[in-house]
Amino acid sequence: MAAYDAIVVGARCAGASLAMLLARRGRRVLALDRTHFPSDTVSTHFLWPRTTAALARWSLLDTLAATGCPTIDTVNMHAGSVAFRGRPEAVDDTAVMYCPRRTVLDKLLVDAAREAGADMREDAMVRDVIRDGDRIIGVRGDGFEERASVVVGADGMNSGIAGAVGAEMVRSHPSLTCGFYAYWSGVPTDGVEFYVRAGRDILVFPTHDGLTCIWVGRANDYWPIYRAYIEGQYLDGLDAGLLERVQRGRRETPFKGTHRLPNFYRNCAGAGWALVGDAAYHRDPLTGMGIGDAFLGAELLAEAIDRGLESDLDAALKVYQETLHEKTAAVFEYTLMSAALKDPEPQARLNRAIAADPDLTQRFMNVLGGSAPFRSLFNARTMGMALRQ
Ligand SMILES: Cc1cc2nc3c(=O)[nH]c(=O)nc-3n(C[C@H](O)[C@H](O)[C@H](O)COP(=O)(O)OP(=O)(O)OC[C@H]3O[C@@H](n4cnc5c(N)ncnc54)[C@H](O)[C@@H]3O)c2cc1C
Repeated sequence: MAAYDAIVVGARCAGASLAMLLARRGRRVLALDRTHFPSDTVSTHFLWPRTTAALARWSLLDTLAATGCPTIDTVNMHAGSVAFRGRPEAVDDTAVMYCPRRTVLDKLLVDAAREAGADMREDAMVRDVIRDGDRIIGVRGDGFEERASVVVGADGMNSGIAGAVGAEMVRSHPSLTCGFYAYWSGVPTDGVEFYVRAGRDILVFPTHDGLTCIWVGRANDYWPIYRAYIEGQYLDGLDAGLLERVQRGRRETPFKGTHRLPNFYRNCAGAGWALVGDAAYHRDPLTGMGIGDAFLGAELLAEAIDRGLESDLDAALKVYQETLHEKTAAVFEYTLMSAALKDPEPQARLNRAIAADPDLTQRFMNVLGGSAPFRSLFNARTMGMALRQ
């Protein structure tokens, strides 16, 4: 018998959550991460109600609130030439939104996994998988070998586990945006602020310690210029009102940035292995869905592994893959459309219609927040209505 039911490689939003959920079901779990927590990563960190609702289901939302993270109750959208604001309705009774530092959120998840009984090993670098014929039966790392019924790659978009098991890319679009972000003091915000303009996107989030996280994105092919003149290009990308606020504040951190923001799905299940979080599916960050999707994947995969260990593991993993792809497809399409950083018809007309009609504004908020399915807004009837305006 394998020493563990599951080995999870990578212990942030996807991996620590999965390890916690499996351990809470009484499964023997080993989670391995090459880093040591608390640890930061390149990511802004806005949580829609779809995401905070998962933390509430897991009884971790109060723990997050106790870290002093400010609550967010307003979403301001500036899309093309229109602006509108609102608040997404609750998902499973949770309407609050947060933007917690990853040093705080990821550590909180790691602690919860450990408390649930998972073996949580930090500073543990995984190098390869162990096979028995076509089946994955364990992992080999720096100074250790471990075996389990299933090995899960929760090791991010450049997943080494995906490479080792030969997980196929089933859909792939190149990076559409690039950008830099920094943390500012003395920059008040009106809740969270999203600006999607032709050729740029700006995300403004209040976070821990009175700081404001501001991301300024550009079209991906702008990267060489942006990287060469970061501060000038960053400030130049801001809307006038926001620039004034920023100039009255102070930058407290260096800029962090990336131009590696691909949009893809990998096959995420096979004989004795699975992928979850960014390893399975990655999309541009401008819609702020990555952490919520990592949580969704962790819940679906925990259920599949738990069920599969009692019956047919590989069949249960296949169902996980199909369900994950089906549940995330609409977000993926919407993200691709938005990350093009254009304002083409009919999207521009739809934005105008959303801004002009309080009912459509609420539906838009709910779709992003997670209390309504994407097709309740992005359907032939609504699009047709918008086009007629
Ligand atoms: C610029 C940017 C902004 C973003 N903004 C938001 C946002 O506002 N809201 C939101 O919801 N999402 C956002 N995202 C997306 C979000 O960051 C990701 O979707 C999320 O971090 C995915 O979590 P994960 O656990 O799958 O992977 P990761 O966070 O990438 O974690 C992978 C872990 O695996 C470990 N690992 C990798 N290889 C090995 C190995 N060989 N051995 C051991 N350990 C290993 C790493 O150390 C790491 O800890 C943003 C992303 C970016 C890049």
